[in-house]
Amino acid sequence: MKIGILSRNAKLYSTNRLVEEAKARGHEVRVIDHLRCYMNITSMNPSVHYRSEKLEGFDAIIPRIGASVTFYGTAVLRQFEMMNVYPLNESVAITRSRDKLRSLQLLARRGIGLPVTGFARYPDDTEDLIRLVGGAPLVVKLIEGTQGIGVVLAETNQAAESVIDAFHGLNANILVQEFIKEAGGADIRCFIVGGKVVAAMKRQGKEGEFRSNLHQGGSAQLVKISSAERQTALQAAKIMGLNVAGVDILRSNHGPVVMEVNSSPGLQGIETSTGKNVAGMIIEFIEANAKSGNTRTRGKG
Ligand code: ADP
Ligand code: MG
Repeated sequence: MKIGILSRNAKLYSTNRLVEEAKARGHEVRVIDHLRCYMNITSMNPSVHYRSEKLEGFDAIIPRIGASVTFYGTAVLRQFEMMNVYPLNESVAITRSRDKLRSLQLLARRGIGLPVTGFARYPDDTEDLIRLVGGAPLVVKLIEGTQGIGVVLAETNQAAESVIDAFHGLNANILVQEFIKEAGGADIRCFIVGGKVVAAMKRQGKEGEFRSNLHQGGSAQLVKISSAERQTALQAAKIMGLNVAGVDILRSNHGPVVMEVNSSPGLQGIETSTGKNVAGMIIEFIEANAKSGNTRTRGKG
């Protein structure tokens, strides 16, 4: 097969591991910097170009699109979908997952456990919004943040009000969320490939930090998950329409609650902490599923 990886940097651990495993399994693989791609959007013969070259003959595309370039990256992926190239994760599903509010709304509709979450536009409603999610302590977060940046713990109602007003003053869209204190600064990352949890790790925030992100100094270790956690993770990935996903779960005293669903989950933490060949499993999944036009939306919407 000829596999394309949309990634800005071939040296990144995840990109590099996918290249390695694809090659080991006899595939032709190419890393494509999606920001350098340009497109010809015609109804009969859509194409993607890269430095004067027309990109052709791909059987599958693995999107590794960074959060800061979601708009352009998903447009390039969508163009490949128009050309009937199989996407590991579809462009619509990626766009969906990048918006925390949209994701939570979709998960809530299907009864997935979630922290109580509120959203409002007008500062006049701040007080009522805080009351709605049960009062302080609570978590305020940017709708499109990643790596723990833009996630703030407000210990008192007054602090919450100031933080919410400050974000609003910057015209930032935010969520206000019940603080799951009992999670103890840890979360569970369930790595899903093709409807199976293939690996799971527990991430623990560094001392005194409620955010478990590895980018914030957290550490990861292998964890055994309960069947309720497994079911929650699988359902969440399915609802989002993702074949490959990192579903982050908090252990709350009202059961597993989904924090977020990541459509480009990193491989380094999960492979290192679990010793599993997750990249290999992704390539195997592509081998079994990459058929021309085998997508649910075929790039529509
Ligand atoms: P990001 O996309 O930046 O990773 P998250 O929503 O995943 O943002 O939040 C980052 C981390 O902060 C989570 O992994 C979790 O450890 C902690 N966290 C976020 N929201 C809550 C919450 N409501 N209760 C407890 N901890 C939380
Ligand atoms: Mg997170």
